[in-house]
Amino acid sequence: MIIAIDGPSAAGKGTLARKLAAALDLAYLDTGTIYRAAAAKMLDAGADPGRDAEAAGQAARALVLAELSRPGLREENISQAASQIATIPSVRAALLDLQRDFASRPPEGKKGAVLDGRDIGTVVCPQADIKIFVTASPEARAARRHKELLDRGEASIYARVVQDMEARDARDSTRGAAPMKPAPGAFVLDTSALDADAAFAAAMKIVAAHRPSSPARKP
Ligand code: C5P
Repeated sequence: MIIAIDGPSAAGKGTLARKLAAALDLAYLDTGTIYRAAAAKMLDAGADPGRDAEAAGQAARALVLAELSRPGLREENISQAASQIATIPSVRAALLDLQRDFASRPPEGKKGAVLDGRDIGTVVCPQADIKIFVTASPEARAARRHKELLDRGEASIYARVVQDMEARDARDSTRGAAPMKPAPGAFVLDTSALDADAAFAAAMKIVAAHRPSSPARKP
């Protein structure tokens, strides 16, 4: 079974995807980390993620899975750099096989996978059994991100969080290559008024009603 979870940053898709994978005994891949790791590799090489498409493509092609666990990938400069290189078609093409291999051959003998990102239901796994587009109001998302940063002991200014989020949303949803949008047939789950447990319960209802072996899908 493949479950595709897409949506903007801080909508709660990572937490939800992780919980679904644990509950259903599926492998989990946070595909944003792949873009982040490629962006970090590029910054290490001193290249400009906003200008140097050739270096971005090279960094993406040279990426190995071990690099996904390097520290510091959640920092804001990496978030923005990841979203910049994510607009480059050669970067997306280079990272596609890695994601599709994970979905078709999940590690540790798992029988399926949950992938979260921006284009999982539309491009990476359009054949996914269940697609969920997780979203929330900009205010709810900004408040969550602001709290997350403060909880991690990082300095955070709310107005700056809103600004960074708007810049990334605009870039992610208006780019020509695989823009962020709900896939056809995706269930839209608005988590503005839901905590992590309530979002998980809502998603499990969707899964129970629509998983491949479910009676609801039989004629
Ligand atoms: O999900 P996360 O915030 O870690 O993603 C970082 C950036 O990577 C996103 O803003 C987006 O530009 C890019 N991304 C993407 N496609 C994905 C996952 C992430 O374009 N499937």
